[in-house]
Amino acid sequence: MPYASTAAQLAVTSHFPGKKPLLISGPCSAETEEQLLATCTQLAATGRVDMLRAGIWKPRTKPGMFEGIGKPGLPWLQKARELTGLPTTVEVATPQHVEDALAYDVDVLWIGARTTVNPFSVQALADALRGVKVPVFIKNPVHPDLELWLGAVERLAQAGVADIGLIHRGFASYGNTEYRNAPMWHLPIEMKRRLPELPLICDPSHICGNRTGLAAVAQQSIDLDFDGLMLESHIDPDNAWSDAKQQVTPQRLAELLDSLTWRQ
Ligand code: PEP
Ligand code: MN
Repeated sequence: MPYASTAAQLAVTSHFPGKKPLLISGPCSAETEEQLLATCTQLAATGRVDMLRAGIWKPRTKPGMFEGIGKPGLPWLQKARELTGLPTTVEVATPQHVEDALAYDVDVLWIGARTTVNPFSVQALADALRGVKVPVFIKNPVHPDLELWLGAVERLAQAGVADIGLIHRGFASYGNTEYRNAPMWHLPIEMKRRLPELPLICDPSHICGNRTGLAAVAQQSIDLDFDGLMLESHIDPDNAWSDAKQQVTPQRLAELLDSLTWRQ
């Protein structure tokens, strides 16, 4: 049954997570218990972070790269949650990921850019989330297809997921560009126009692909009235097992957040 993507047709009712700006940080990937706990406790000590992120299952472009520590990383994240008192968020790409993450008290799930592109995967996640009260962020698809992003929101909303948020992580293009994933700001702005009730946060880490551009992209999103930021951090960024070039230490993260001009 075809229908247009409009906010009015969605069953989304609530405004997770409320706080603005919502600041999410943590490593691209959980690597070891020590790395995850050190990163998370240092982030909590900055007093600037509202939620901890960690990639447990990593969708890598090529085989042979680090594809995530998997289920053994979940008790580490659970421990980080207990030690810091901060909620946690994890990327899920399959119904099994949903089941495993929820079994270890993960507070919020997110759907990654490589999953948002696939309606079968999104529908499988929506079916797994039926009747489950957990907030879910949906990253934009890898390529600039707004309808696919809207379609993912609709699939979750139709499955009864009430707390849906959006994450802008930029859009891939071929060849060397200034950005790892071009921000194409008009697209998240249009998404916000179509779904004004959904929180929209920015992920400067995956837009930039390096550390130098993070502050400018974060500032741009604040100026555009985004609702928060997701930024990757690591105790030893240069030696991270994934996305080493774009991660910052918890201390640098705090300095970066301090350097931004926030809306009143
Ligand atoms: C991530 O957040 O580490 C990630 C894999 O992001 P994306 O889905 O935006 O590529
Ligand atoms: Mn990453």
